[in-house]
Amino acid sequence: MQGHPWVFGNEVGEIDGPVNAGDIVDVFTHQGHFVGRGYINPQSQILVRILTRDKSEEVNEEFFYRRLLKCWEYRKKIGYQENCRLVFGEADEMPALIIDKFNDYLVIQTLALGMDKWKGAIVDALNRIFSPKGIYERNDVPVRELEGLTQQKGFLSAPFDTNVIINENGLKFHVDIENGQKTGYFLDQQDNRRAIQHIVKDADVLEAFCYTGTFSCHAGHYGAKSVLGLDISEHAVNTARRNAQLNNLQDTCKFQAVNAFDQLKQWTREEKKFDVVILDPPAFTKSRENIQKAITGYKEINLRGMKLLKPGGFLVTASCTNLVPPSLFLEIIDMAAKDAKKKLRQVTFQTQAQDHPILWNIENTTYLKFLIVEVQ
Ligand code: SAH
Repeated sequence: MQGHPWVFGNEVGEIDGPVNAGDIVDVFTHQGHFVGRGYINPQSQILVRILTRDKSEEVNEEFFYRRLLKCWEYRKKIGYQENCRLVFGEADEMPALIIDKFNDYLVIQTLALGMDKWKGAIVDALNRIFSPKGIYERNDVPVRELEGLTQQKGFLSAPFDTNVIINENGLKFHVDIENGQKTGYFLDQQDNRRAIQHIVKDADVLEAFCYTGTFSCHAGHYGAKSVLGLDISEHAVNTARRNAQLNNLQDTCKFQAVNAFDQLKQWTREEKKFDVVILDPPAFTKSRENIQKAITGYKEINLRGMKLLKPGGFLVTASCTNLVPPSLFLEIIDMAAKDAKKKLRQVTFQTQAQDHPILWNIENTTYLKFLIVEVQ
């Protein structure tokens, strides 16, 4: 199976027959060869998203059951049990579908009309495969409006307590399925959180953009002397404090609800110093027009992060902007180091956890960049 699963409107010569938004359609080349079968939305720039390239495969309830089962079998095969991203859209040949599994609970997002129409079939399949304790829809995502869909969230099962606790790397974390960011928790950093294990020992650690304090709690757990986590969201910081408590780390891990850009700037001016600085900001842009702004943003925070380190300290830095490829991210860090007059020694350069597959035939699926460097 080759090629990108998106067919743009300007690539299509003609639409044969009447279609309704969300219908399943067949796509052919100009020569009449079958390309694939997928769902159409004339209102979207992405006219068709391919679901299958097998001409004999019908898209029906059973199709979704088979596909979800395949996703689960794959996750189990590569070692996942309790928590995982069960479905990662295009990377699982399920365009615009996201499903996260937090032990017995499932959180789903259907981000395109053609996928949203199959929500019932998806929920039935999940019930058949997992008999979950609960299923929740986090479709409160602006991108749905481009598809003519409304933003909404709520139960797709009998109501349940949406504050669940998950295990990760020997720690416990609260996941607020209803009011947390995205699906409630960032599973993509689970291996990267473990990667800080040795460098944080006896260290004074600063984590900016800490969300619910997962890296901070890992730092505390791995023996940091002190940990300070910053996030602009009060809700995130409150959950971070509860996470520290849940792991009995409340004496080591402290959190503040502040704007990290301002705080980093102020502390650089005051020449405050840490042994380890962790930076995991939100995506700075989703469009190519703003890529320069994203580059400037990454450069600025990383420059400040480096300046806040004692000589020989470690910078732990991540970027989830999928329009910034790994090579560009490294270039930005290099520019920041030159400006800060620092020398870098790479400890590790990683990507997202394996339950967010990287497809070699689809660009930008290596979306998460995670770098640890020693800064001299
Ligand atoms: N490292 C976290 C995920 C971070 S997501 C984890 O692994 O779970 C990015 C976070 O940056 C979000 O929690 C968001 O609230 C926060 N954020 C966005 N703008 C910010 C700002 N200006 N200052 C501080 N935090 C900010």
